[in-house]
Amino acid sequence: MALFRKSHLEKGLLKIVGPSGLLSSREDRLCYGFDSSGLEQEPSLVVLPDDPLQVKEVIRLCSRLDVPITPRGAGSGTTGAAVPVSGGVVLCLLRMNRILEIDPVEMMARVQPGVVTGVLQKEVEKQGLFYPPDPASLNFCTIGGNIATGAGGARAVKYGVTRDYVRGLKVVLADGSMIETGSATAKGVVGYDLTNLFVGSEGTLGIVVEAVLKLLPRPVAYGTVAAFFERIDHAVDSVTCLFKSGLLPSCAEFLDEKTLKAVGAELPMEVPPDARAFLLVEVDGDEASVKKGLGLLTACLKKEKAISFFEASTSRERQKLWQVRRGVSPALKRLGFERKISEDICVPRKAIKEMLLFLKGLEEHFPINIFSFGHVGDGNIHVNLLFNSDEVSEEDTSSLIKAIMKKSVELGGTISGEHGIGISKMPYMGIELSSKVIELEKDIKKVFDPKGILNPGKIFEG
Ligand SMILES: Cc1cc2nc3c(=O)[nH]c(=O)nc-3n(C[C@H](O)[C@H](O)[C@H](O)COP(=O)(O)OP(=O)(O)OC[C@H]3O[C@@H](n4cnc5c(N)ncnc54)[C@H](O)[C@@H]3O)c2cc1C
Repeated sequence: MALFRKSHLEKGLLKIVGPSGLLSSREDRLCYGFDSSGLEQEPSLVVLPDDPLQVKEVIRLCSRLDVPITPRGAGSGTTGAAVPVSGGVVLCLLRMNRILEIDPVEMMARVQPGVVTGVLQKEVEKQGLFYPPDPASLNFCTIGGNIATGAGGARAVKYGVTRDYVRGLKVVLADGSMIETGSATAKGVVGYDLTNLFVGSEGTLGIVVEAVLKLLPRPVAYGTVAAFFERIDHAVDSVTCLFKSGLLPSCAEFLDEKTLKAVGAELPMEVPPDARAFLLVEVDGDEASVKKGLGLLTACLKKEKAISFFEASTSRERQKLWQVRRGVSPALKRLGFERKISEDICVPRKAIKEMLLFLKGLEEHFPINIFSFGHVGDGNIHVNLLFNSDEVSEEDTSSLIKAIMKKSVELGGTISGEHGIGISKMPYMGIELSSKVIELEKDIKKVFDPKGILNPGKIFEG
């Protein structure tokens, strides 16, 4: 950015957010230039607003000076969506972290975007309520980031994803104006559904400064079972058996053999030597329904040849199992490969087995370690490609990713179940969406952001 423009911008931002809300040192800018994708780009400045009015003023100033703005929550996204590829300003919403209201009668919470997802969950649970969306990153990711990515999580199989819990939003648009969408009520059908348009839009259409979220009554009982299998298909058949018996588990998580090896030592039980696949299944509800669910689950595990299974008998054991599951991604990073590419395809349940066997087969053709794990209950598989840069060319990596995505779409699935497109999946949009749909989406972007200053270089190529 030209020096004169930068100093003009810096002075203007300083007036809006004060010295504590503006970071300009190289060290600070580096810290806000990357996310969990491993991609990075230094922004010119970092702004940390305290309230929606400051957000409005910041956007107005950036719009006037044609400065790109990259919104950011905790930077835990896996696609580079929060990386400021065009430089400019990173607008970090972490300071706007107040839970403004929890209403047990309307069963809703009104929150600022920087609230950490796990913090909101704990707060509503104190009042007997429940906010189900539970990305494995819930201890650090934010509600704003969850809304902008359309985040999912383990409980999506029963409770759905973030999108299903957003009733209304306050959004600052690219010209600095603020709008409200949706309604705090349980129902509302006035005009187009702009709320849903903002969900999953990755900060390219507006900045979420407040959200009204739907809540549910908190389940009072849980049954959590870990099971080991000799074969992947036995694990998948166990999940199919659950659905066939009329049981909707709250979670059904899968680890393949390699992933199990990476985290097995952390599990609170012995991993059988012949284990090649692992399931973590949870049922929730009241005591009676959990008891019934556990009965059906046990019957399915036996029928589908689980080598062994283990029911968590204390809340501590349950927490330990979830800690291991949520720690899978960081554990894979610790394996020490130079590159870790994380894909998150989602296929219909009937195609999970074929997809997993296809992934296993790919390793025979590419010198890459493939670790597959994830939300097998809803067909969302996190395919992690781990390798060292000198072992695999960019071309081969890209062909491998393409092959995985094409297979997912051929099977009736999608190229991203919950992580979104950001930068890393941008080249592959055409595998799933027709050119007509992509053009329509680009037109929508132009309506909301004619100058292209909101998170440029994301979702669409060119
Ligand atoms: C260990 C680990 C486990 C994970 N597990 C899951 C999982 O189970 N399910 C899942 O869905 N994801 C998962 N993720 C990915 C990530 O945590 C989610 O995408 C999360 O929603 C990102 O939230 P964030 O606050 O970190 O957002 P960021 O990464 O900071 O930003 C993500 C996107 O949201 C935009 N954004 C942020 N705040 C706003 C705002 N207020 N207004 C407009 N746009 C905004 C950014 O510009 C960017 O496009 C995981 C990541 C890690 C590292």
